[in-house]
Amino acid sequence: MSSTGSPSSSNFIKNIIDEDIKNNKNNGRVHTRFPPEPNGYLHIGHAKSICLNFGLAEDYNGLCNLRFDDTNPTREEVEYVESIKNDIRWLGFDWDDRLYYASDYFDTLFEYAVRLIKKGKAYVCDLSAQEIRETRGTLTKPGTNSPYHNRSIEENLDLFKRMRAGEFEDGHRVLRAKIDMSAGNLNMRDPVMYRILMTSHHRTGDKWCIYPTYDFTHGQSDSIEGITHSICTLEFEDHRPLYDWYLNEIDIQRSRQIEFAQLNLNYTVLSKRKLRELVEEEYVNGWNDPRLPTLSGLRRRGFTPASIRKFLDLIGIAKRDSIVDIALLEHCLREELNLSALRYMAVLRPLKVVITNYPEDSVEEMEAVNNPEDPSAGMRHIPFSKVIYIEREDFMEDPPKKFYRLAPGREVRLRYAYFIKCEKVIKDKKTGEPIELHCTYDPASRGGNSPDGRKVKSTLHWVSAAHSIEAEVRLYSHLFTKENPSDVEEGEDWKSNINPDSLEVLTSCRLEPNLKDVKPGFHCQFERQGYFTVDSIDSTDRKPVFNRTVTLRDAWVRIQKRAGGK
Ligand code: ATP
Ligand code: MG
Repeated sequence: MSSTGSPSSSNFIKNIIDEDIKNNKNNGRVHTRFPPEPNGYLHIGHAKSICLNFGLAEDYNGLCNLRFDDTNPTREEVEYVESIKNDIRWLGFDWDDRLYYASDYFDTLFEYAVRLIKKGKAYVCDLSAQEIRETRGTLTKPGTNSPYHNRSIEENLDLFKRMRAGEFEDGHRVLRAKIDMSAGNLNMRDPVMYRILMTSHHRTGDKWCIYPTYDFTHGQSDSIEGITHSICTLEFEDHRPLYDWYLNEIDIQRSRQIEFAQLNLNYTVLSKRKLRELVEEEYVNGWNDPRLPTLSGLRRRGFTPASIRKFLDLIGIAKRDSIVDIALLEHCLREELNLSALRYMAVLRPLKVVITNYPEDSVEEMEAVNNPEDPSAGMRHIPFSKVIYIEREDFMEDPPKKFYRLAPGREVRLRYAYFIKCEKVIKDKKTGEPIELHCTYDPASRGGNSPDGRKVKSTLHWVSAAHSIEAEVRLYSHLFTKENPSDVEEGEDWKSNINPDSLEVLTSCRLEPNLKDVKPGFHCQFERQGYFTVDSIDSTDRKPVFNRTVTLRDAWVRIQKRAGGK
């Protein structure tokens, strides 16, 4: 279950924890947390952090908290809180009764801020955001002290309390830590601790009009909860000295911040800001659009929690950023579904075939294997009759050399049924497109077996026209045409890399009747077409809607072969 449990995924974080346990740090306790900001839906990058944090807790018999990092009231919503909880449970993890909100600590954080002011380690600054930026210096140039740097402790306490009381407008004053304006690390140049925001908060309502910054919240929240190892992504490495400085100066329990490389996937974006843009500007149909790398999108597309955990386990935990091939994620799902998914026949783009020498009203039940990988899945029956559908692309009137499927005068096998031979093509008068084939069948080839050793070069799937059920099928490809869609020239919009053909909707597909009454969440293979799942939103009893989860072709295996790998 845990994504860090297998020996293949022992990682540098485990080495650090092992060392801490050996030294009896924290009395050998391991306590982690997953700290999402409720400003969007979780994506597969977050799943990496979830599996890591909850997985480490499992591996070390420790605990993992869920903590909503809700310090920015302008962007946060309850809808996101609920979706995040749902997604974590879906992945297979549970925080038991340890659900926390950073906003629960606003009173304590305020006390901590007062403590720093009293120590002469924080001051109220009247500079505007712009002025603060301008006096901050650069990587090569030190910053300059704020003119308010030397305010007395009494004045600072008075002003900070008045900030809290709502006496000043947004942006007119901030509370800053008094550290060092010439520090090499820009995060240490008197960073802002509190800003005025006359905005209601989704949990604390109008109680506060000053809100702590992320940096002034995160480490203290870790400390309050007794977190031993605070695991975050690499961009926080430069914030670690500040994380430590606050805990040290406030003088509370110190958790240890450890950074790891975030997950990046090709052909998609993993940034809530960008995902929100795609959703709000309607490039996709909501946060759970099956083309998105959000957990709700992947779930709707048909990905399973096990396949996602397997994928994260395989890529492991690193200290350097890289881009992972999305083909590996698809490979993990394919491997799982190959073993578990039942096979069915479905014709996505139907072409009518009349078997002229087949008795008019006869119906035969053909025997079919449910899953060749799993004999215990047994057999089923599929009705066969005089009029059937085959896949439009399985017929060519004037086939090129390498096309082995049906063509005029040619014989092929219908899977589990008969050999048929194409005798006549009926075409649309206007377009010249074939609209119906007339074929004959060989009664001696029942079950699709050759009666006399003669060979056919291909086997086609089919459904009986009268017995099949109608369905909509949605086929997906990458949402972006470029491997790294965010890599754009200045002035160019990353959204110009959106693939205009990422969704293809087929509305008159025909399925074998055994697929009647399938419910959302149902997974199966359509023979020769890929793995599919019933759409959880748009599917109805009258007309099911299927999403193609992945095709049958495994791009990952091909990539590995080309690289000379396994
Ligand atoms: P985004 O950049 O997508 O907006 P975020 O870091 O702002 O993500 P948070 O809600 O703050 O989103 O993230 C919660 C946790 O998930 C953090 O600990 C963060 O480091 C981690 N996380 C976010 N994105 C990734 C990723 N791509 N890979 C691994 N961990 C991630
Ligand atoms: Mg973040």
